[in-house]
Amino acid sequence: MSEFADILTDLKDHIQLMKEMGQRTVEISPEVWSAWTAPPRPARQVQAAVPAQVAAPPVQAAPRQPFRAPTQTVSSGKKVYTPEERVAGLAEIAKEIKACSECRLRENRTHEVPGQGNPHNPDVMFIGEAPGAEEDAQGLAFVGAAGQFLTKMITAMGYTRDQVFIANICKCRPPGNRTPAPDEMATCFPFLKRQIALIRPKTIVLLGGTAIKAILNTQVGVTRLQGQWSRYEDIPVMPTYHPSYVIRFERGGISTAAELKKVKRQIWDALKSVLAYLGKPVPTPKKK
Ligand code: SF4
Repeated sequence: MSEFADILTDLKDHIQLMKEMGQRTVEISPEVWSAWTAPPRPARQVQAAVPAQVAAPPVQAAPRQPFRAPTQTVSSGKKVYTPEERVAGLAEIAKEIKACSECRLRENRTHEVPGQGNPHNPDVMFIGEAPGAEEDAQGLAFVGAAGQFLTKMITAMGYTRDQVFIANICKCRPPGNRTPAPDEMATCFPFLKRQIALIRPKTIVLLGGTAIKAILNTQVGVTRLQGQWSRYEDIPVMPTYHPSYVIRFERGGISTAAELKKVKRQIWDALKSVLAYLGKPVPTPKKK
């Protein structure tokens, strides 16, 4: 009974979260719907299945799942692109970004930063907020101090940067590294949306609150959502902290060593959940 109550509590929490994230409907398969709505079987039929003199085997409670990762790939019905179409499509998007002056971020940028990496259904696509100074100088995503921490995260998962795709919500640097304004994000977002549709990563890792707001269309913050699975366009999405958050911690700006350790552990737990979903082993850290 307590196991059943736990499941109901988890379900209630999950529905509440989806509601806060703006979801108003849920999809239920015909099989589940008919199971829910089927009339209960008559009690005497159930009793007849177990003869009175035979003791029923003890009921074993199913072990609880360690995390709520999605358990199956949802068929999206989206167009599947050939490798050539992907490369050509991404090149076309990069060309459009280069020519774009749709928002005020165009005024101060040195280079546009469309994103880079493996475009062919990579295991993971990392999405951050916007380019910083180093990214603006090089035209590449996540190559500054935060990028170095992201590289550590990618390496810890057993990948190289070339095996994943790395991009941002906004493709031009906001002055002074400020957070992009909602209208700037909304104007730029179609580029990323088209990139995701072409790349079709197996999972998306959202880095920080801005990426979470844009992709999951929510005002719920990173502290609440980090480490919890969600979906975007039928792709499993794992939100976690932005690497620059850790950098700020490490530079002694905000808090204590214990909190830094906690944030790093939460990021690693989120990445391990992604590896578990992908069926990949968790690499053993190399000894220094
Ligand atoms: S941030 Fe995006 S929408 Fe704004 S100018 Fe750059 S590419 Fe265009």
